[in-house]
Amino acid sequence: MKTNLLDFDLDGLVAWCQAQGEKKFRAVQLFRWIHHKGVSDFSQMTDLAQSLRLMLQDKAEVRALPVVTRHDSADGTIKWMFDVGQGNAIETVFIPETDRGTLCVSSQAGCAVGCPFCSTGAQGFSRNLTTAEILAQLWFAETTLRRELGTDERVISNVVMMGMGEPLQNYAALVPALKTMLDDHGYGMSRRRVTVSTSGVVPMIERLSQDCPVALAVSLHAPDDVLRDRLVPLNQKYPLAELLNACREYLAYAPRDFITFEYCMLDGVNDSDAHARALVSLVRPQHSEPLPCKFNLIPFNPFPASGLLRSSPERVKAFAALLSEAGIVTTVRKTRGDDIAAACGQLAGDIQDRTDIAGRRAKTIQIHA
Ligand code: SAH
Ligand code: SF4
Repeated sequence: MKTNLLDFDLDGLVAWCQAQGEKKFRAVQLFRWIHHKGVSDFSQMTDLAQSLRLMLQDKAEVRALPVVTRHDSADGTIKWMFDVGQGNAIETVFIPETDRGTLCVSSQAGCAVGCPFCSTGAQGFSRNLTTAEILAQLWFAETTLRRELGTDERVISNVVMMGMGEPLQNYAALVPALKTMLDDHGYGMSRRRVTVSTSGVVPMIERLSQDCPVALAVSLHAPDDVLRDRLVPLNQKYPLAELLNACREYLAYAPRDFITFEYCMLDGVNDSDAHARALVSLVRPQHSEPLPCKFNLIPFNPFPASGLLRSSPERVKAFAALLSEAGIVTTVRKTRGDDIAAACGQLAGDIQDRTDIAGRRAKTIQIHA
């Protein structure tokens, strides 16, 4: 089997090239052709020596994922479903805005955390994606959109790891993918334009701060351990005090001076005034420094069999007002792409299930600053 060059960050590609007897600068050229220029055909890489191009054709490939479906929303949102084999599919969503283009990327087929409000969680865990499968989503979306828009300019300016899966439970594959997004020879994104969203894998938050400190979003969903144990079962292993401590420590390395907390608004479960006040006390404790943070409220997107309901717009507004009045910057995710059923964190099912699910869900997106 040929080596898929999408599996490497620049250091990895240098090592692979050196193992083939090629110099480091050749790896840099190759990396730029693949990620910067979006070229997969070695014969088009005109400044590479003929002998190197022949070697690459023999031993390597730039292999993206087969597309199962593509849906285009009236508002410009695009959702692709990719086949990752053995009946598993993952989804990737492109969200265009006036000043940026955001790609919502998956890190796993399924998810082992099992949050009851998330259809990826309800589906269970199939497997980790490889670095190549994570990067293939970006490589494919970027090259496809550039071709369609007839531009050589970058179309995707931001990446959010908010598709299917818990990125920090696939750490080894995630980090080379992130490094490629940041690399000037790769996608050249600034650290603040790449966001990892996590349900709270505390030791990996600490490692990320050392290895690749991109923007961090933490899925909070509850102000106390009793409720969070239910809504985010990983809390039983890494309770709130440890999680908030890890957030504080991350801030010393983060590209921004705040952590984003995501909070899925579930009717009658976590959306009362008392919950809002408890959240304020949690991030602004009386006897220690406040934790610099922003809140992003996500109205729950219902899916069949969740048994949960979305908080009313009035409730979300009142909840947001309580946080704002306490001086915490709070935004509410707006709904987009409802017509194509593309919801980050709500993506689920195997290929057979997908067609069934399509059309029933609403897409919410985060407004990334
Ligand atoms: N596993 C990571 C990243 C993927 S989920 C995490 O949990 O952070 C991305 C976001 O979508 C998370 O904040 C998640 O809580 C949210 N989400 C999941 N299911 C949802 C639903 N049904 N409605 C609204 N938001 C949901
Ligand atoms: Fe996994 Fe995130 Fe869904 Fe929870 S919300 S089940 S961590 S993908």
